[in-house]
Amino acid sequence: MGLPDMRRHHLSVVLEHLVRSGPRSRAALAQDIGLTKATVSAVVADLLSRALVEEREPASGRIGRPAIALGVSTSVVALGLQIDADRVEASVVDLAGTVRARHRRGGDHREAEPAEVLGLLRDVTAEAMADVHDEGLWCAGAGLAVPGLVDPETGALFVAPNLHWLDVDLTAPQSLLGLPPSLPVTVDNEANLAALAELRHGVGRQHSSFVYVSGGVGIGAGVVIGGRVVRGAHGFAGELGHVGIDPSGSRCACGERGCLETVVGVGRRASAVRRADALAAALRDVVNLIDPEAVVLGGAFSPGGDELASAVADRLHASTLGARWRPCPVMTSSLGPDAALLGATTTALDAVVADPTIVPVEPLTQTA
Ligand SMILES: [Zn+2]
Repeated sequence: MGLPDMRRHHLSVVLEHLVRSGPRSRAALAQDIGLTKATVSAVVADLLSRALVEEREPASGRIGRPAIALGVSTSVVALGLQIDADRVEASVVDLAGTVRARHRRGGDHREAEPAEVLGLLRDVTAEAMADVHDEGLWCAGAGLAVPGLVDPETGALFVAPNLHWLDVDLTAPQSLLGLPPSLPVTVDNEANLAALAELRHGVGRQHSSFVYVSGGVGIGAGVVIGGRVVRGAHGFAGELGHVGIDPSGSRCACGERGCLETVVGVGRRASAVRRADALAAALRDVVNLIDPEAVVLGGAFSPGGDELASAVADRLHASTLGARWRPCPVMTSSLGPDAALLGATTTALDAVVADPTIVPVEPLTQTA
């Protein structure tokens, strides 16, 4: 590793430690990471000049001169964008994973033309970018969460059943959304992105293998094994909503009958018992197939979803082969409906942590 590479590496290691572990003094950073205090001081000076970290007032009341703590700054952000059947949303998320601002338009998009919905998304994106500009923030990039099958390489959207979208070209999202051509923008499936957020900010802190179930008008899943989201051969994995529950059930947006989401999707009128039965029936196969450490119910399932989680857990414990020895816990997501938006910012914010030098020195004067 040459000197510039070494410097970049140290910047990344210190920033990552602050992002993952919270505020620390320079001395504590040196001790945690195993660098000299002189190196840490130089690295911190560089991170301060890029407005990536900020100094925090020390807690008072301690004996002796308290050390100034360093925390991740709130001025480097990414945009989390989402299209769903009932809303479009643009949020501003900082390096610590805090949602700083959000703009949304509600509505029923199930019969709307893609151009109309993308127009609404363009509007909320412009409002979020106005926040970025007005507050002197530096935007690292954006991510768009969509409820359908996406080619993760190109961003092409193949199908979003609940929007009735087929082959919608999202491969040039910057021009579609009115964003600067140089801004990195990724497009991905909403459940995969929510699982990524869960991995980073939620249940992933305790478990490296879990199945995240995203509740909405449609039902998706993000499968995480060994700390990575499993996407399948084409990026299509995790379509839990289209697992068959009832061959004589009602017609699904995908064309089949009796898919899980025709029973438990938002807006469906199933009883609490029927919902738990259907979710458990689909998840029983998942647990038997991949043996996750946990199942997490998120999206529309998570606010106040503990009763549903416990009902599903009871059914899984009674029906999966290994449950008698290793029952799979079912929990609700602490991230709530924001998980996909948070996950959508991960790629852009991770790029900053991996190479903090992509943020210019004194970014605030450069965006002004
Ligand atoms: Zn279906």
